[in-house]
Amino acid sequence: MANPVNRLVRLDTNPPVEGSERSLFGLDEAALGKVMADLGEPAFRGKQLAEALYRQRITTIDEITTLSLSLRGRLAAEGWSINRPRIAQSFVSVDGTERYLVEFGADASETVETVWMPEGDDGEAGDGSEAGNEEIGRRSEGKRRARATICVSSQVGCAVNCQFCLTAKLGLKRNLTAGQIAGQVVAVLDRHQVEVGRERINLVFMGMGEPFLNYDAWMDAVRLLVKEVGLSPQRMTVSTSGIVPGIERFAAEPTEMRPKLAISLNAPNDEVRSEVMPINRKWSIEDVVDAVRGVQLRPRERVTFEYVLLGGVTDRPEQALEVARLVRRTGLAAKVNLIAWNPGPGVPFSMPGEGAVERFHQMLTAEGIPAYLRKPRGRDIYAACGQLKRTVEGQDDRPQKKLQKDGKVFK
Ligand code: SAH
Ligand code: SF4
Repeated sequence: MANPVNRLVRLDTNPPVEGSERSLFGLDEAALGKVMADLGEPAFRGKQLAEALYRQRITTIDEITTLSLSLRGRLAAEGWSINRPRIAQSFVSVDGTERYLVEFGADASETVETVWMPEGDDGEAGDGSEAGNEEIGRRSEGKRRARATICVSSQVGCAVNCQFCLTAKLGLKRNLTAGQIAGQVVAVLDRHQVEVGRERINLVFMGMGEPFLNYDAWMDAVRLLVKEVGLSPQRMTVSTSGIVPGIERFAAEPTEMRPKLAISLNAPNDEVRSEVMPINRKWSIEDVVDAVRGVQLRPRERVTFEYVLLGGVTDRPEQALEVARLVRRTGLAAKVNLIAWNPGPGVPFSMPGEGAVERFHQMLTAEGIPAYLRKPRGRDIYAACGQLKRTVEGQDDRPQKKLQKDGKVFK
């Protein structure tokens, strides 16, 4: 009989679907140079194009004034367009968090969520990125947005089927291309007029989807963001549900191009984990930890174990002790990020009980395990993964007026 978990997760699913237009956005400098060479232009024009797309953040060929009018005309005539992902709708939370529905190309039907957190959510505290408390000091020196974090999606929906996750309810619709992943970031940087290099920006690949089930496009996006956009991989964190072949590939990436790693642990043992994350039946906690041991950490870098607290299921005091033992046993330089479960329609769990999150946190700390609480961000704008998309698309029966939509539509 076919193993249902094997059917759920195939590494070769759905190659990204390209639109009929030829998109410049997503190509790196070398590939842009080739486009130019094919038009009989010198390769340095590729550098000018990369500069225009990723540094100047230009969105139409017409506006690339470093290229002659006739060259711009020839590019367009050849079917090229920039085709950067667009922020189609935006929702602003009272806490400053902004959540976007981002759409791609001519196909407006498949959107993903991208989130801007001006103050981060403390998810990077203590992981060696220096993006934690000392940044708050800098802010008081008058630097604005010293530690903004952008949460990025890697797939439309997700195939992994974690029982507590709203994105899982969508199923996997399709993979995103590298340009569609990196483009979410560039669109958000543009919206906030961020000066890359002067302002510290953290990226977390923790939006919709499982990055390690879209590995090539995801890693191409990382390379674009590092080489062309100028962001630091040390300020990027990729989160995986524990896709072992993906972790193994990740371990082989060169350090200068590798983000930090977070593992969604979410349970104190295999039994509970298999219940809440069926993927655990394919790759157990020990399988995942073994693969993580292969990742060569930078000095002071820590692996993050993310732990979603589900009321009565994963938030009990004895489970905190079990998590502490588990993390100690791994022997890894690690920390634990605790996240109170964000409720969503049709997901049969409850939020952790009163005081349970603090108690869990204190117990881990008392056991000598570095542990941090992720601040809930944007609760009023449907903060949980996948929640906004489902709400906006009318799959939630709660009243839409709860959303603080800022009314702007960027096309
Ligand atoms: N697919 C990857 C990355 C996206 S999910 C992964 O699973 O790691 C990012 C994080 O959000 C994961 O740690 C996941 O456990 C957590 N998460 C998912 N649904 C949640 C919810 N409703 N409330 C709180 N955290 C959630
Ligand atoms: Fe997919 Fe991550 Fe949600 Fe699991 S938690 S279903 S892997 S997005």
